[in-house]
Amino acid sequence: ESLLYVDEITVVRDDKEILKDVSIRVLPGEITGILGRNGAGKSSLAYTIMGLPNYRPKKGAIYFKGQDITELGITERARLGITLAWQHPARYEGISVAEYLRISSRDKIGESQMEEALALVQLESSYLKRKVDKTLSGGERKRIELASVYLMNSRLTILDEPDSGVDLLAMADIINLFRKMTENGRSVLIITHREDVASQCDRSYLMCSGSIVLEGTAEAVRRYFLSQCMPCPEHAGETG
Ligand code: ADP
Ligand code: MG
Ligand code: MG
Repeated sequence: ESLLYVDEITVVRDDKEILKDVSIRVLPGEITGILGRNGAGKSSLAYTIMGLPNYRPKKGAIYFKGQDITELGITERARLGITLAWQHPARYEGISVAEYLRISSRDKIGESQMEEALALVQLESSYLKRKVDKTLSGGERKRIELASVYLMNSRLTILDEPDSGVDLLAMADIINLFRKMTENGRSVLIITHREDVASQCDRSYLMCSGSIVLEGTAEAVRRYFLSQCMPCPEHAGETG
């Protein structure tokens, strides 16, 4: 049984089909990857799953925990347990890191859980007293955001290009954090243009020009992505 099932959705913007008959499944307890080059339609798929107003499918349906959520808005989808990372971190400018983490969490959490979350992103507990403001470096900010996403404890966490801006955090640490996000039947959907990130997923999809062109093990998808003969006509024969 899938946690998320996107069933042949088509999304049109400015008379252009930015998603064409896209179908994906996210299984409970798994990290699923969407791999594709810039402009492939990855972010559009994330917005469509989250239910952003301008990304309502013209065709197809989206099911979450077996329920048809195609007509639901962002808030209702969030309430059901879907989180798209980094939608509104700027809103919390000026509050303490501890307060920011507490607001992000759905459950009442104590300091020890906040410290655990910070440790997962390689930050000391002294950061709890810091403020979410310009005194934090971009990398520190991104780590704190990742810690907050972890504490949201969502059934499905969608991360759009989670590797961007976390250059100081080792990829192994990020993957470890995502693994923690799949405990207790929860799932993670990682959107990325990096084949090394996709290769860490349990299962992946390759996206090209608004379509899913390949589904398989992360390794198989990675190999196709790197190969000269991309499985989509547009990139057939392309190198690099
Ligand atoms: P990716 O995240 O894979 O880089 P996007 O989902 O951002 O791809 O974009 C997919 C395609 O849709 C691109 O051709 C882009 O120019 C187009 N697109 C994205 N957003 C809009 C929009 N708001 N209006 C019109 N076209 C858009
Ligand atoms: Mg892009
Ligand atoms: Mg994108």
